[in-house]
Amino acid sequence: MKIDRDAIKHHIENITMNAEYVIREYCSEKGCPCNHKQFVYWAGKQQGPGWQDNIQNQLVESVLKSDCFSKINDCEKTYCLESSYICNKCGTRWNYFLEEWRMLAYHKRLLKVGGDDPVRLYKELIGSDIFATVGLEPDGKNTLSLDQWVAFMLGRNYKAETYPACTPAGKTETGLRQKVLSILKRKK
Ligand SMILES: [Zn+2]
Repeated sequence: MKIDRDAIKHHIENITMNAEYVIREYCSEKGCPCNHKQFVYWAGKQQGPGWQDNIQNQLVESVLKSDCFSKINDCEKTYCLESSYICNKCGTRWNYFLEEWRMLAYHKRLLKVGGDDPVRLYKELIGSDIFATVGLEPDGKNTLSLDQWVAFMLGRNYKAETYPACTPAGKTETGLRQKVLSILKRKK
C-alpha cells in the first residue's frame, strides 16, 4: 500500500487548525479555557491503553504553546508528570502528563491541579481520530468526528457515532457471541 504523505500532512494540519480555533474561541474576550467543562474533560481524559486520541494530544500540545499558559519551572517531578503550567489569565495551575504508551507514541493529558477527575464529566466520549495497536482499537466507544468535536467543545449541538469495530470478528464480544450462536445452530 502506497502511503499518501500529502494526505497525512493535510490531515494533521486540519486537526491542529481546529484545536487552535477552539482555544482561540475560549481565549477571546479575555477568557481562558480553564472553566470550560468540555476543555477540562477533553484535555484530561484517559486514553488507551492500546490507542491514542489524536485530537486530545493536539489540543494539549496547542494550548501549552498558546499565550494563555506559562510553564512553571519549579514543579515536582513524579511518574509521567512532565511539567506544570499556570494560566496567565485566571491563575489556575495545570499538570502536564506525558506517557509513552508505545515506542514513539504518546498519551498527552493536562489535569487541573486539585480538580475533579475529568473522566466523570462526560460518559466516555472520544475523538474518531485514533491511532491504535491492531486488535486494541476502542471498538464501540462513542466518538466525535473533527467537525462534531468542534461543535461539542464550543457548546453547540453535536452528534456522536460508534467507533467501527475493526478487530476481526471472533475477537470482539459481538463476534464471539455470533460465533457461539452459529455453533449452537449447527448442533440442532
Ligand atoms: Zn484560566
